[in-house]
Amino acid sequence: VPRLAARGLVHRFGDTTALAGVDVDLTDGGSLAVMGPSGSGKSTLLHVLAGILVPTAGTVHLRGTPVQGLSERERSLLRRRSYGFVFQHGQLLSELSARENVALPAMLLGTPRAEAEAAADRWLAQLGLAGAEGRRPGELSGGQAQRVAVARALATHPDVVFADEPTGALDQATGHDVMKLLVETTREVGASLVVVTHDADVAAWCDRRIDMRDGLVVAPGSTPSGGAGP
Ligand code: ADP
Ligand code: ADP
Repeated sequence: VPRLAARGLVHRFGDTTALAGVDVDLTDGGSLAVMGPSGSGKSTLLHVLAGILVPTAGTVHLRGTPVQGLSERERSLLRRRSYGFVFQHGQLLSELSARENVALPAMLLGTPRAEAEAAADRWLAQLGLAGAEGRRPGELSGGQAQRVAVARALATHPDVVFADEPTGALDQATGHDVMKLLVETTREVGASLVVVTHDADVAAWCDRRIDMRDGLVVAPGSTPSGGAGP
């Protein structure tokens, strides 16, 4: 059984068909890059896979359990327990230190503060941020802030990490470092990874890659009609 299995995903926003019939399998601990031009359905696919959006048609199974059919509240709990998220802009809470940002999701799941903060410090050290635990996001560089976001995504021991353009706001060298850490640390902890990206160099870090166009998965290497091709 794949860790995450999606079949026949269709998603419509009014008259717009964002997903037109997509199948995706995520293996245990594997990483998948989702590429394609703007508007091809990448973010919608990520949101449907992550249980943020309910598809118009099709199914998503996490470890063999169907995600559709869960209530909004159950899906919210599933996201917190089983998934980690990294966005283009880390969306760290600006009033909290790096340590508190990383500790918060585990605390919301019931881990006592002292334990969650000790674990947060270990994650931060693993991501090369020893010494920065007490800093607020405004006192970190863009690359450091994204590494805090990666630590936060991993700190709840998720089954799957979803990353939407995680290097989109970084220069190439910094993005490269963040992507390498994201792929390596998710692999080390046995989490599967889905990365939406425009950047073929970012996709190259992943085990597998799919290319999307007009809501469909197309053959790898097909040249997108617009946007950046590899
Ligand atoms: P990508 O991530 O590849 O840029 P998206 O998944 O964001 O593509 O969008 C796929 C299509 O769905 C686009 O035509 C987009 O305009 C449309 N779309 C996405 N989100 C919404 C929304 N909330 N309401 C209406 N249309 C949307
Ligand atoms: P809750 O219901 O507990 O407030 P949310 O639904 O706000 O939880 O979010 C659960 C996870 O999904 C969070 O990590 C959040 O950042 C992410 N998320 C929620 N909505 C979106 C969205 N529109 N796009 C991307 N990620 C989202």
